[in-house]
Amino acid sequence: MAQVLGFPRTGRAQAAKKGLIKTKLSPFFTALDGGDIQCELCPRRCRVAKGKRGLCRVRENREGRYYSLVYGNPCAVHLDPIEKKPLFHVLPSSGSFSLATAGCNLQCKFCQNWEISQASPEDVFSYDVSPEGMVKLAQETKARSIAYTYVEPTIFYEYMSDIAELARRAGLLNICHSNGYINPGPLKQLCKWMDAANIDLKGFSESFYQEVCGGELAPVLETLKTLKREKVHLEITNLMIPTKNDDMAVLKEMCLWMKKELGADTPIHFSRFYPLYKLRTLPPTPVSTLEKARDVALSAGLEYVYVGNIPGNQAENTFCPKCKKIVIQRTGFMVGEVHLKGGKCSFCGRPISGIWA
Ligand code: SF4
Repeated sequence: MAQVLGFPRTGRAQAAKKGLIKTKLSPFFTALDGGDIQCELCPRRCRVAKGKRGLCRVRENREGRYYSLVYGNPCAVHLDPIEKKPLFHVLPSSGSFSLATAGCNLQCKFCQNWEISQASPEDVFSYDVSPEGMVKLAQETKARSIAYTYVEPTIFYEYMSDIAELARRAGLLNICHSNGYINPGPLKQLCKWMDAANIDLKGFSESFYQEVCGGELAPVLETLKTLKREKVHLEITNLMIPTKNDDMAVLKEMCLWMKKELGADTPIHFSRFYPLYKLRTLPPTPVSTLEKARDVALSAGLEYVYVGNIPGNQAENTFCPKCKKIVIQRTGFMVGEVHLKGGKCSFCGRPISGIWA
């Protein structure tokens, strides 16, 4: 079964297919007795019997060796504004060539991309694009970066890492939007190529992670600290879900942790939840909740606090922490006036953290 799909702004099309296209041996597994393996890529450390797959659905034990089933097989390829990641402190208004394969290592009940994140590779239409081909496509669109996004990129790690190395050599930035659910070893290797990351800090309690996401909080916090140490530009997204993670006392604790461990200049995006997937009975996040969260974060000492999914809100702009003037004006994903000179506020000269050129 095939379906012809176009690559964005390249004038090229390819027959996207259902079914497994290619596989690649994973470097991240330990062989166990009896042909079982243990995956070492993410904190789940799935133990997988011969012929079976890990929880992310895209890694399979074949005769005691573990294979990625999505190498070179993206099911989503789009040219997005970098603001959509969201990364507000990296090359404003530039294009980011964005890709994903099927699969994910969490099972969030509010997932916005569940059709591909909770799917097996056989369930979706996929392209056949080598890492070299992906960098070439990105260059044809004049994108300034390649984004690994839409699902958890850890699950297509080998593909991401090979593209990222080539992209770096071609002068493109590498950016990701991730849930941060990855083991320290693979993460440190990836940091060699990664320029910027937006990590979902989905809540600040183990119970929220266990009940709503099917994971754990502690490994995500370790990932954040590692990214900071490895000097990868970091922004954080917190999707606020009514009654699930909107307790302002917990939120304050989270912001204070961020300030202490990651620095006051780490941008945070409080994003509006819309009823989706398994949480359809909850209402959208009230705007007042997001604005309250912003006040809490600013009072905790964070310098760049945004509100997302509410186009036209004042808190989409970047304000200089010193003179309080707008240095980057935004409406939705559109960038208006930019008042930065050499990475500094052009009104008062205060450095604004980010990658600006
Ligand atoms: S990457 Fe997939 S197979 Fe490996 S431990 Fe995580 S969920 Fe399991």
